[in-house]
Amino acid sequence: MIRAVKGTRDLLPPATAVWNHVEAAARELFRTYNYQEIRTPILEETQLFTRSVGEETDIVMKEMYSFVDRDGSSLTLRPECTASVIRAYIEHRMDQWPGLKKLYYIGPMFRRERPQKGRYRQFSQIGAECIGSESPLVDAEMIELSLEILARCGIEGARLLLNSVGCPACRPAFVAELRSRLAAVKHQLCADCQRRSETNPLRVLDSKLASEQAVIETLPRITDHLCAACREHYTQLQEQLRLRDIPFAENWRLVRGLDYYTRTTFEVTAPGLGAQNAVCGGGRYDGLVELLGGPSVKGIGFAVGTDRLVLALSPKTAAARVDLYIAWIGATYPAAVRLAQQLREKGLRVELPHIEQKLGRSLELAAKLGVRSAVIVGEEELASGQLTVRDLSTGAQKRVAEADLVQHVQAAVPG
Ligand code: AMP
Repeated sequence: MIRAVKGTRDLLPPATAVWNHVEAAARELFRTYNYQEIRTPILEETQLFTRSVGEETDIVMKEMYSFVDRDGSSLTLRPECTASVIRAYIEHRMDQWPGLKKLYYIGPMFRRERPQKGRYRQFSQIGAECIGSESPLVDAEMIELSLEILARCGIEGARLLLNSVGCPACRPAFVAELRSRLAAVKHQLCADCQRRSETNPLRVLDSKLASEQAVIETLPRITDHLCAACREHYTQLQEQLRLRDIPFAENWRLVRGLDYYTRTTFEVTAPGLGAQNAVCGGGRYDGLVELLGGPSVKGIGFAVGTDRLVLALSPKTAAARVDLYIAWIGATYPAAVRLAQQLREKGLRVELPHIEQKLGRSLELAAKLGVRSAVIVGEEELASGQLTVRDLSTGAQKRVAEADLVQHVQAAVPG
């Protein structure tokens, strides 16, 4: 048997209905915030990610699905979408479009991580980017939007974690200090963190290893080393969140796994997800457009992990119900076909069996499929113009005039 590739999953019904519901709710919310959809290719040139995400990050060092194409170029299945959106922004000269560029995307990303609950090698994100402003007001609206997606989908107990990682004016001095402090405690760190303490010291703060927590607590904190402009931005963002009644917890260790972040970084956690409890991550990337060869334009974005969002929801979701089953017998099939057409036109979910069955078998099968009611289209019923409708949960039967059937079934469907 050929199985799905490790770390990838088939999404089957009824779970796919939950996915569609979540994505539709997100699309509707984006519309109300005046965000428009962008669809970029899943394949990109490898250097797009090595340059933007950063050579020293886990994503680029260990997790990308890259391959050499037949013409010798190196391509990568996108591990995230911000870099792709910025590439498209530059390529299509979107800086010349009026106003802020408010874009959203929905789709699969690929990272070769160690699979576990809530962590997959192909996973899906619902993300947004707002390009063209450095205002903390934009950051606050972005955070509000990300939390609203989770709330609309029914996530309870979401927690917002907030940090500022500074900018090119203040971060280098801080990183230098962190590096020298790390050098002094290096022997207490794991091999990975020993390497990071030289190549990418901020990432040491991300470590979840129990044995390293005590020493990390003694390290300097970037929020104590922000320049005046970054401090002001961070203070204003917090004021803006309070204005919107958005509670948050500051977390000085929230540096996130990608190099391009500046100033604001945030993460949202949800209960019930175990170790992989981050359902959304985001941040500001004021240098990214320039880094990729575009104009000096600043932006901020976030991505919600759809797999985790659905995981956090799933106990509450019920399978979709079929509204009507049409039981036909022999010569009445043509009438059943026409009836199904009429009912489907009205938006009803109709099951028309493709083989003839004894009435008893037919109704048994309909009940198994979770159908609400069945209509019996027999020869006698057609001749009299009175169809029999049976409620499959109570067994109650009713004669309904053919002309009234659509209305009758519609009235029985809740919502
Ligand atoms: P990131 O792009 O790393 O900032 O991640 C944003 C969000 O995507 C995270 O908060 C997760 O919800 C989700 N995510 C990231 N990596 C994975 C993965 N391997 N499997 C499932 N979801 C993921």
